[in-house]
Amino acid sequence: MEFDTIAAISTPSGEGAIAIVRLSGDQALTIADQIYKGKSRLVDVASHTIHYGHIVHPDSEEVIEEVMVSVLRAPRTFTREDIVEINCHGGLVSVNRVLDVVLSEGARLAEPGEFTKRAFLNGRIDLSQAEGVIDLIRAKTDRAMNVAMKQVEGRLSNKIRRLRQQLIETVASVEVNIDYPEYDAEDVTLELLKREARAVREEIEGLLATAKQGKILREGISTAIIGRPNVGKSSLMNSLVHENKAIVTDVPGTTRDVLEEYVNVRGVPLRLIDTAGIRETEDIVEKIGVERSRQVLKEADLILLVINSAEELTEEDEALFEAIRDLNAVIVMNKTDLEKKVDETRLRELAEGRPLIQASLLKDEGIEELEQAIARLFFEEGVETQDLSYVSNARHISLLNQAKKSIDDALEAAELSMPVDMVQIDITRAWEQLGEIIGDNAHDGLIDQLFSQFCLGK
Ligand code: GDP
Ligand code: ZN
Repeated sequence: MEFDTIAAISTPSGEGAIAIVRLSGDQALTIADQIYKGKSRLVDVASHTIHYGHIVHPDSEEVIEEVMVSVLRAPRTFTREDIVEINCHGGLVSVNRVLDVVLSEGARLAEPGEFTKRAFLNGRIDLSQAEGVIDLIRAKTDRAMNVAMKQVEGRLSNKIRRLRQQLIETVASVEVNIDYPEYDAEDVTLELLKREARAVREEIEGLLATAKQGKILREGISTAIIGRPNVGKSSLMNSLVHENKAIVTDVPGTTRDVLEEYVNVRGVPLRLIDTAGIRETEDIVEKIGVERSRQVLKEADLILLVINSAEELTEEDEALFEAIRDLNAVIVMNKTDLEKKVDETRLRELAEGRPLIQASLLKDEGIEELEQAIARLFFEEGVETQDLSYVSNARHISLLNQAKKSIDDALEAAELSMPVDMVQIDITRAWEQLGEIIGDNAHDGLIDQLFSQFCLGK
């Protein structure tokens, strides 16, 4: 394929001292040569080598920046095009000046995600891998990063390819049987179809079962800390934030970047709801009223309800338990360093089997247990050792569900002893739907939309 040469600053601002201006395309080397002064011309050097030199203004010859330049020739590059990476160690200002001269010499400013889009369009990666790159950029914890890495490596793609292969082979063997209708070919064929279709459906269900965890890893668990005044909500918030370095992520937006705060609890990213609100007013219920707080609670993935163990349960405590009935919650029985006054039997009743953690936030006790309980709620034990191929992308989940539905249709038709080619149509549809996950027959609109989610320079 033929594309123009694109360029962008490819390190996220604020991350480390070195920033890179990256060029990709046929003209990458010639454009770089017009502004680069070093021992040799870049068009003459070997691929995958690094060169010391200076970027100079093409007209005034003024030195703009001292640089290391990497030359990577097609096709062994991320985009499968010639790539030049200009490593600048000056601040943002000089990097932008380098980008300016690169653009003035004929490169075009890359759109967000355009490098990855080229990798996809040039056949270097498939669609689910490209989406893995998006997740990688946004990953909130190491665990989320691992999942995204696996996707980039093609773990999900391989699984999908295997399932498609299985479906296509089934359809093919049915063809054979139709062409040679000896014996009870029709019956044999239906049995084979049903067996294979069930096997594939089971694997799709397995993938879908990982979706909940995948979503959590991607988006974080929205968490509300609630409780009566003075029970220790702020103390809990502070412990969580201090024990687990708060992660502040850049959420890429077009005009403004919003800052979100996360804490990383054993690989589970908690997004603390209305953090600022709680900090300012000390009490979410007090601040927004009981009715609205019910709404907030419903939208939370996790509720941490704090109870003061040094006092008897009050009506307010009971009301809070009522508000979080059937919701995902951990009960924190705080202030265990003081004399116990709370009715623990009643407390256990109200907890309805949900974890009840004894804590003294003042003395730093119980935080470990709380974190364990949270991690256990969201990941089965021992998940660390399992392979981390979660399905975490909404588009993938939807397509997997559609494919499962198509297979169900096929099985239903088979049960009703419909003609075999009717069953085949459904199987073929499932095959197509799985194909869309990895970008077979993905249409341009979808591709543009996907790649526009990237930050600049990726
Ligand atoms: P909030 O109103 O629910 O946010 O409660 P705070 O976190 O502000 O705590 C209220 C008071 O209880 C503060 O004086 C804390 O120092 C104290 N406190 C918090 N946790 C404990 C604990 O485990 N033991 C004791 N004795 N006091 C605590
Ligand atoms: Zn407080």
